[in-house]
Amino acid sequence: MTRSVPFFNYSHVFTSNEFKFVETFREVGRRGAFIMQKDLIEFERAVSEYTGVKYVIGVANATDALEIAFVAGGIKSGDEVIICSHTMMATASAVKFAGGTPIPTEVGYDRCIDIDSIESAITAKTRAICPTQLNGRTSDMDRIQALADKYGLDIYEDSAQALGSRFNGKHAGTFGRAGCLSFYPAKVLGCFGDGGAILTNDEDIYRKSILIRDHGRNSDGQVVMWARNSRLDNLQAAFLNLQLKEYSKVVERRRNIANIYNLRLKCCARIGLRPAPEIIGKNFDIYQNYEIEVDRRDELKMYLKERGVGTLIQWNGQPIHLLKNLGFSQNLPRTDLFFDRCLMLPMNMSISDDDVNYVCDVIFDFFKKC
Ligand SMILES: *Cc1c(COP(=O)(O)O)cnc(C)c1O
Repeated sequence: MTRSVPFFNYSHVFTSNEFKFVETFREVGRRGAFIMQKDLIEFERAVSEYTGVKYVIGVANATDALEIAFVAGGIKSGDEVIICSHTMMATASAVKFAGGTPIPTEVGYDRCIDIDSIESAITAKTRAICPTQLNGRTSDMDRIQALADKYGLDIYEDSAQALGSRFNGKHAGTFGRAGCLSFYPAKVLGCFGDGGAILTNDEDIYRKSILIRDHGRNSDGQVVMWARNSRLDNLQAAFLNLQLKEYSKVVERRRNIANIYNLRLKCCARIGLRPAPEIIGKNFDIYQNYEIEVDRRDELKMYLKERGVGTLIQWNGQPIHLLKNLGFSQNLPRTDLFFDRCLMLPMNMSISDDDVNYVCDVIFDFFKKC
């Protein structure tokens, strides 16, 4: 029997709690509370409590969050920032628009930045390391911190995919000078449009960031610096507040889905799985994505599509170092190989256990029962 298992169902984000969202819209609308009102403050406070970070600053999206954090943290022209090539172009463009130079390196065995290749990318101009906490997994921050200490570098985190993800019990986005969150609808905590936040324990970055997101105006409305507009809509903050209350359940459900995939797919030697967090021991994953590695990836993708299963190749199949139009020319053979083989399976709140088992059945069928 053929089922329809979409990769992501955008309307489900809304319809899953439609009554409450409409009620919230009406309530916020009647208050006329659209820009930087109490819902935003409450949301920032709630994220701060949840992650244990000192300051949370709601902004327009995660790309802005990173760029503002880099600017506030003093990244300037000529500074190199080491990133993983397996990330969204946003990580690189945030460095670029802050004035720095993004330096992509290899993807590691855990799909996060390969820590050994960070060291070989360090030059006299290197100012910071910005690991991407990809697919809801936090990188080995002990090793990254050791490198940062050894070479006197700052750490920033692209934690856009990792709200609630932990390493040694500490939340993604709270390790370095600053981290970011994205509330793009397909993220684990998604709103109905764009949204993001800066996370930081650094008071100086906090003070600069709240000025930068609001035209350089201080609490008296006085303009004290050149800045820009990148505010998180109060209405989106109200919707996010509602969802954050149920966030632990969402994470639990995604971990359950991942568990089914893990248990079933590990039986097939032709499928490369990311080492499960319990094997590594230090990680708590939130499974923003479930990404596998296989030979004949494009054939499998088509086979799944013909049987109703939506899949996606992250970044449209292009890691950062292959964005030739942007001037990158690094040679990263391991990342190239990974991008011939990677595929993301459905991982979202609208699929059932039966759907997940069906996806596994189709994959086994493709590999002739493994
Ligand atoms: C989604 C995402 C971003 C960008 O988030 P926006 O809110 O759309 O700006 C940045 N980095 C990573 C790894 C992402 O997945």
